[in-house]
Amino acid sequence: MIISVASGKGGTGKTTIATNMALALERAQFIDCDVEEPNAHLFLKPQIEKKMSVTILIPRIDEDKCTHCGRCAEACEFNAMVVFPQTVLVFDELCHGCGVCSYVCPEEAITEEEKELGVIETGRRDGIEFIHGRLNVGEPMATPIIRMEKSLRKKDGTVILDAPPGTSCPVIETVKGSDFCLLVTEPTPFGLNDLMLAVGMLKKLTISMGIVINRADVGDEEVYGYCRREGIPILLEIPMDHRIAHLCSEGIPLVGELPEYRDKFIDLFAQIKEIVKEKGSS
Ligand code: SF4
Ligand code: SF4
Repeated sequence: MIISVASGKGGTGKTTIATNMALALERAQFIDCDVEEPNAHLFLKPQIEKKMSVTILIPRIDEDKCTHCGRCAEACEFNAMVVFPQTVLVFDELCHGCGVCSYVCPEEAITEEEKELGVIETGRRDGIEFIHGRLNVGEPMATPIIRMEKSLRKKDGTVILDAPPGTSCPVIETVKGSDFCLLVTEPTPFGLNDLMLAVGMLKKLTISMGIVINRADVGDEEVYGYCRREGIPILLEIPMDHRIAHLCSEGIPLVGELPEYRDKFIDLFAQIKEIVKEKGSS
């Protein structure tokens, strides 16, 4: 079963929920897809065993062969090339490495050069298999790294995907294909606004969802009313608690220090399993 953990906005405690669920289960594959700011390792503290580079192929033009016909730029759906009468410009930061330009070039004037977007590291903490990706500084494209991380996911057992915050392409790339998505929010107007965007995204992707409300005793009742109206189950509420805030600030998982949370996260998983089972049989 693949469970993604997402949030419409940053700072809701998404990674806290994802990592503590993995630790409570003791056996899972955990993939941190927040490749711009991966921080699940701070809680899970895995032993990293392998590191691999993620690259794409960027076109390079042989000006001696190029006739400046313009076909490459016409074919590039990412506007990463511009052909002038005397030269061809390639904007590396826009290039997705799809290879279409070299395919359509009638003069074989395009060769391809590898460019590193970032790295993926894999490791382990006890029964948890850990994967995280890290985008190189200044690189805009997170999705190829997320795609490669997801290609390493196990075909059986429990896989937990920690999504980036928001509802942009890297989030969609992370959550698509999940059996269930857990949305972490707070009961504030900002939390509700971003939750609504995330719910809209999951509805389009037809992914089952449930909610965790963090800092549940601050803010207002609007999030509760919204979930009721939309028929989205609230699976866990975590109160504002200075002990939790302290543990999170130190990178210490809740389930180790506050044993009642181990049971809460096991129960959260059991509820998700039940929803996925019911959906599968309907
Ligand atoms: S398609 Fe080939 S020949 Fe035409 S402009 Fe591009 S690189 Fe040059
Ligand atoms: S590889 Fe694809 S994205 Fe990059 S310049 Fe060529 S056609 Fe455009």
